[in-house]
Formats: sequence, C-alpha cells, structure tokens
Amino acid sequence: MKVNIKSFLAFQKALPVIKRIESHGFQAFFVGGAVRDALIGRQIGDVDLASSAIPEKILDIFEKVIPVGIEHGTVIVRFDGESYEITTFRSESGYQDYRHPDKVEFVSDIKEDLARRDFTINAIALDKNGDVIDPFEGLQAIESKKIQAVGNPYERFEEDPLRIMRAVRFVSQLGYTIEEETMAAIQQQGMLLEKIAVERVAIEFEKMLQGEALVQAIDICDDASLFCRFPIFRDYPDLFHQAKTITFPLGGFAEIISYFVFRLPEVSIEDWSRQWKLSKQVKNDAKGINEAIQYYDSNGLDEWLVYQLPEKLISSFARVAGILYTRDPDRLKENVKKLRTTLVITNRRELAFQAKDLFDITPQKPKGPWIGKLLKTLEKKVVSRELRNDYNEIKEWVSKWNPPGKD
Ligand code: ATP
Ligand code: MG
Repeated sequence: MKVNIKSFLAFQKALPVIKRIESHGFQAFFVGGAVRDALIGRQIGDVDLASSAIPEKILDIFEKVIPVGIEHGTVIVRFDGESYEITTFRSESGYQDYRHPDKVEFVSDIKEDLARRDFTINAIALDKNGDVIDPFEGLQAIESKKIQAVGNPYERFEEDPLRIMRAVRFVSQLGYTIEEETMAAIQQQGMLLEKIAVERVAIEFEKMLQGEALVQAIDICDDASLFCRFPIFRDYPDLFHQAKTITFPLGGFAEIISYFVFRLPEVSIEDWSRQWKLSKQVKNDAKGINEAIQYYDSNGLDEWLVYQLPEKLISSFARVAGILYTRDPDRLKENVKKLRTTLVITNRRELAFQAKDLFDITPQKPKGPWIGKLLKTLEKKVVSRELRNDYNEIKEWVSKWNPPGKD
C-alpha cells in the first residue's frame, strides 16, 4: 500500500524535515492521527513525526526546537512556518500512576514504537515515499471501521485508562465500532477512569460530544457504564438519560454545560466548571449561552436576546437551543444573524442618551445603582423599538414617565 504524499499539502510541507533527519543518518516517519486521517480520507490535522534520533540530536539538526518533553523523547520543531512534534522511537513500561510510564526506553525500530500506540488505526507509519508500515493491521481495521487496541486491550487500558475515553471519542469522530475484545475490556475496566486526572478525561469527553457519531458513542458509554465515572454524572445517575437526547454534535464544553444546566438546574455552571476543572473562559461562555437560553425559554427569539448575545456565542446558542427545542440549529443561527442586522443599536455606547445626559437633567439626585438600572431600561426599550433612539424622545420619557427623583 502506498499513499500519494503529494496529494496532502501538510505531508508535502513536512517532507524536508524527514529528509533533513535522514541526511544525518537517522530515520523519520509520519505517524499518529494525520496518517490515520489521510488513509481514511478525512481532513488531516497536525503532522506528527517519529524518529530514531534522540531529542539531543534533533536539537543539533534544527535551529528552532522547543523541548516540550525531552524526558519522554518529544520535541517540537519549527520549520517553514509550521510546528512538528517529533518523538523518538520508544517503548513504554510501568504505568504505576496510570498516567506516565515508569520507564521510557528509546528503541531503534519504528515497529516497536508503533506497538506502544493505543489503537491499530493509530499505529500506522508512512515513510517519505508514502510507503505504509502497518505491523498491526491498522489498514484492515480502517477497512472494517473498527477501533481495536494494539495488543491485549486489558493490559493497554490498565497501563493508561485514558485510552478507554479515546476509544469512545474515536467512535464519535469516525463513526467506527469497537472491536469485540476491546469493547469487553472497556466494559470490564471502566472504573479505571477514576484514577486519571479529570482534565484528561474532559478533553476526550468534549471531543466525544463534538463528533458526528456522538449518539453511538453515548450508547457505548451507557453499555459500559462509563457515565458513573464522570464528575457530576456520578452524583446524578439519571443525568445520562439527558445525554441521550443530544442528537447532533455540540461545539465544546461551554455548550455541554449550558445544555446540562438547563436540564438539571440544581447543578450550577460553577459546579460543572469546578468539578471538571474547566477554564474561566469556558465558564464565562457557558454563562453567556445559558442566559440566552433562559431568555429564549420565556420570550422566544427577539431583538433583546440577539442584542445581548455576544457574536461569538451565536452558533453555540443555536446548537444548544436546537437540541433543547428540536429546532434546526442552522436555521436558528440564520435567524439570529438576520435579526442582528436589523438592530437599532448594537451596543450601549450607541444609545442616544448616556449617563452624563442623565446627570444633566437630575443634578440633585445622588448617584447610585438606579443609574445603571435606568440606562438598562432605556437600552432595552430602544432595542425593542418601544422608544426611538433619539435624545429628545428619551429625555422626555425619562422626565415624564419615570422621573428618577421619585425613585
Ligand atoms: P487527533 O486527531 O485528535 O490529534 P491523534 O490520534 O493524533 O488524534 P494525539 O493525542 O495527537 O491523537 O496522539 C498522536 C498519536 O499518539 C496517536 O495517534 C497514537 O498513536 C499515540 N497516542 C496518543 N495518546 C496515546 C495514549 N494515551 N496511549 C497510546 N498511544 C497514544
Ligand atoms: Mg494528533
């Protein structure tokens, strides 16, 4: 089997890296997800390389090298505007802490390196000519759309339980099924997930809910009782039924949280982000989506919702609302965008009546929270077209209908 390297720009661009390593007397191959995706016919992502050269040699060969994990044999080489992760051929043993192998041993043969990889579809290498090195029948697994552990699945999951999550995530991304023995091992060893850092689980969980075949992936989590190993889900066993009503891919953790918080409000966004150890950014986005969903639930789609929803959250809102209210997310997104173009103002600074205008007409009234509240009311009235965005009209409304002095 041969792959036409020239038909993949990303491989083509990385060829000089392989050639340079080879010119120094070492071997180098394309490995990992990019090889898998190229063989499947999917868009390829980051190009990773495996090499017989140890990190110190790579440091000598290239000018720009970032030593990200020298002790594990991994460096990043910057070349022609791209970054390549180059990992020295290695075998692993140990894994007392279920995360890092106790011993990383550099080896001289790519086949030994492929043996430590998780699934047969991920254990294929390509050389610079596009020749495939496939000692574990990964190509056949691609042909039959199977996720199969390299070697004994029980041992492989014991070594690194994250592989259980990775298996389910690949089901979701690729629409593959899990080979029988690998599945049996997942069913038997799900509890090992509790031994690994929640951040690592979170990355795979998020990718799982972003995959096209998430419904199948969720079924597998159900079959293998994996949900009770996840934060929050373990305390609310019924919550996984809600996971089963997610019918199309979500865009990321902020959406996942918004969805589940709406389904089960007693667990807050705060709880989700703390227990899953998510970033502030995710938490804030979840808050933004959640506010829009709450508003949509009582008012439907209107100018005020669209005005308040940050542009970057439009797609997220459309997906979460789409699932909750069985709407087509693309249509919903279009409707939000259309309504957005008709807004009278797009932010508070465009309001024809500002805080200082308020002080001008109420010089005696002490400043206080009423200012913010009144401005918000004005903003809402203008956005909802109950008031024109006109200084005099607003001024009249303020003095006539809601004299702040009487508050
Ligand atoms: P993605 O397309 O999401 O990047 P990937 O398969 O490339 O998927 P990476 O995490 O980038 O995943 O890892 C690159 C390669 O390293 C994998 O294809 C696999 O060969 C190997 N690998 C990654 N994680 C593990 C693991 N936990 N156990 C064994 N091998 C792994
Ligand atoms: Mg990758």
